[in-house]
Amino acid sequence: MGDLVEQGERSRGRRPRRWASRPGAITGLACLLAWIAASPRPSRAADIAAAEAAFRTGRYDEANRLAAEAVRDGSWVERWHLVKIRSEMAQGLYPAALGSFEDGARRIPGSVALLLLGREVYRRNGRGAEADALLDAIEARVRAAPSRYGTPDGLVLLGRYFLARGADAKKVLNQCFDPAAKQQPGLVDAPFAIAELALSKQDAALAATTLAKAPKAARDDPHYHYLLARAFDDDDRGRSEKELDEALKVNPRHVDSLLLRASHRVDQERSAEAADLLQQAFAVNPREPRGWAYRAVLAHLSSHPEGEASARAKALDSWPEDPEVDHIIGRELSAKYRFAEGSAYQRKSLGLDPDYPPARAQLCQDLLRLGREDEGWALADAIFKDDPYNVLAFNLTTLRDLLAGFRTLQGEGFLVRMDPREAELYGPRVLALLARARKTLGAKYGATIDGPITVEIFPRKKEFAVRTFGLPGAEGFLGVCFGPVITANSPASQGETPANWEAVLWHEYGHVVTLHKTKNKMPRWLSEGISVYEEGKENPAWGSPITPRYRAMLLGEDFTPLSRLSAAFLAPKSGMHLQFAYFESALAVEFLIAKAGEAALRGVLDDLGAGFTINEALPSRAGMTLEQLDLAFADFARKKAEAVAPGMTWDAPDLPPTADAKALEDWLGQHPKSFPGLRRLAAKLVAGATDAPGLAKAKGRVEELRRADPDYVGEDNAYVLLAALARKTPDPPAERQALEALAAKDGDASPALLRLMELERGSGDWPALARDAGRMLAINPLVAAPHRGLAEASEKLGHDAEALDAYKALAILDETDPADAHYRLAKLLARLGRKDEARLEVLKSLEEAPRFLDAHKLLLELVPPEPRPEAKTP
Ligand SMILES: [Zn+2]
Repeated sequence: MGDLVEQGERSRGRRPRRWASRPGAITGLACLLAWIAASPRPSRAADIAAAEAAFRTGRYDEANRLAAEAVRDGSWVERWHLVKIRSEMAQGLYPAALGSFEDGARRIPGSVALLLLGREVYRRNGRGAEADALLDAIEARVRAAPSRYGTPDGLVLLGRYFLARGADAKKVLNQCFDPAAKQQPGLVDAPFAIAELALSKQDAALAATTLAKAPKAARDDPHYHYLLARAFDDDDRGRSEKELDEALKVNPRHVDSLLLRASHRVDQERSAEAADLLQQAFAVNPREPRGWAYRAVLAHLSSHPEGEASARAKALDSWPEDPEVDHIIGRELSAKYRFAEGSAYQRKSLGLDPDYPPARAQLCQDLLRLGREDEGWALADAIFKDDPYNVLAFNLTTLRDLLAGFRTLQGEGFLVRMDPREAELYGPRVLALLARARKTLGAKYGATIDGPITVEIFPRKKEFAVRTFGLPGAEGFLGVCFGPVITANSPASQGETPANWEAVLWHEYGHVVTLHKTKNKMPRWLSEGISVYEEGKENPAWGSPITPRYRAMLLGEDFTPLSRLSAAFLAPKSGMHLQFAYFESALAVEFLIAKAGEAALRGVLDDLGAGFTINEALPSRAGMTLEQLDLAFADFARKKAEAVAPGMTWDAPDLPPTADAKALEDWLGQHPKSFPGLRRLAAKLVAGATDAPGLAKAKGRVEELRRADPDYVGEDNAYVLLAALARKTPDPPAERQALEALAAKDGDASPALLRLMELERGSGDWPALARDAGRMLAINPLVAAPHRGLAEASEKLGHDAEALDAYKALAILDETDPADAHYRLAKLLARLGRKDEARLEVLKSLEEAPRFLDAHKLLLELVPPEPRPEAKTP
């Protein structure tokens, strides 16, 4: 029975013998149910509730004792047996649970709930074949009396059975779980079953919405909060942790929740806390296989292969064919970027059960991150074919189809995939930038990188997210590096003010180098720190200066000691704190290099690659204890912060946005050192200045602002204000000077660059125009202005090859005057003697503007003289 029983299917007319043989000549299901409901004494019903409450709240001994008494008294009530078995299983008393199950199944042979639980019991007793045989037993029960499973409870059981059989998840949802939830809104099991199913298909959204609508009683069950914690696991760790708090409040011994929290702590590089949580789980169930799997992960991460092997053996001790153990170990390793080791574990898991869905889904993602795309996509296809509800597989196969339309560019050591139009516009620039990064950073860190690095650049955030995380969402990332694979958002996905893509790719290539050098064995803070640090080394405008906000954070409570930087990174309080973690990590790298030199940093990476932990590598290479390093870094950071705008304060005016210059001046009189106050006043004065005295007064304040913090390039910085004043005067050289100062400090300053290009064209400064057009192309190559500037400047400078590329790009982009773009390209081609190409372009120009006189003239010049017509013979 691979498929669902259609709703309303009738019994096949064969009376189930077991039921018929019961005394009392029970003929109908209704009578039977009435009999079961009536048989326990009223006090017993209350006792069951008490035993179930004991189980829910983690008093497993008590639950077990109450159930054992009831069962000894000869109970035929299914719930008693379920509590008994569950409380034994929860404590790892697997042989006892087996005895209880067999006893229960003998007394209540028709109980599908017992048989479903029995599968787990047999498995944990190493009897996988008997566990599988139970499915056949269930099938027999259901076939014998399908109408019995039309109740909400029955539908949930039926659905769980079908899922165990590998039935289509959507059908199970539509035909079992959803109707059960509708028929009996108070039934807690239905939303639980739906959420569990959704989570198994990576459909966290459905899990979360279903649980939100679950009956109130569900909240008393730790399982409810645990499921919610999993639903929020990827997108909102804070919420996930809160739900774990709730679960553990109800039941401090809830092993599922303890293990999920342990997994969070592993992610956060807080191994000691993870180990402690595992200890708590083992106190409940010393044989907990998932707990031993996590123990193996911790051993792996601290380079203890024997510990890893023995923990894995313990995990597989009760059921050697359990595919979950290797799946968990691999999944956790992949979360730490150990994709090679992670994928090897998924293969082990699939060796035990080739169809195990979680291992297939994880292996698929691992392969795509390792750049083994052929195999990865094939697996995504196979998963989707077997399971059309799998959200991950659906997303990935859709993405694969989109990628088929991308263009692949090849450079030395790189395969770059881009949208074809984008490849046309800046593909060669991407290759050139990557080649430069490879040379510079490869030499600096001495990393050997074999195999091409795959770089994929996505014009839409959704596809970037699916390629990177398997799921849409996850805002805020410009690029991600997995080692052999880099994914990035193109400027097209970033609206009006995109970030500098050259800086992004430089940063990601930094990860390629450090991840390769350490074989992906490095704390995230160090990898990010080096990448951010190297951005600033390559181009000061790409670096991260100390902003007023960072200054306050460095000098305040948000400063994190060097030895705890991982936590700052992996458990940030807010988006701002995450940004600050990047910044502080780069500062830590700067500190390490200043203190111990580049060779020591390289040595730390070598040590990490050899399996040492960061807490071992850092002190030995820096020649200081961790405590000394912490103190010295705190000192270094404080001095850096204090050097920014010394003497200034960061109190902001509590005035309405409409406050005039007078009000701001008064406020500043009382807060004379306020940087935000000075900034607001300067901006107000610049905006209002109309005459010479007004301009002079404004300029005085702006200069004061610039002197206070020359590196400040945020909103209303001194440079844009100086440029605005110069434009009012007007004083083009002064305006250029201000804008150039800004462009040298801020790699994302597109408005400044666009204005600079206008000024440079106006004054015929072609070298400057070419330089700033290039800077602008590093931010947004998808607009016409920088290509136009570069084309014009290159032509004037006689840089024909560059001019040609720029005109070609312009011909693609220029929507205001495409005829002119094609015409100019044609002229340049003609001058270079490439007449056929020139003719083609001139025809394109005339297609746009049929009366374009200059184009007609050029066409005449390009048309080869017509051969003399042969004399016609009559
Ligand atoms: Zn990064």
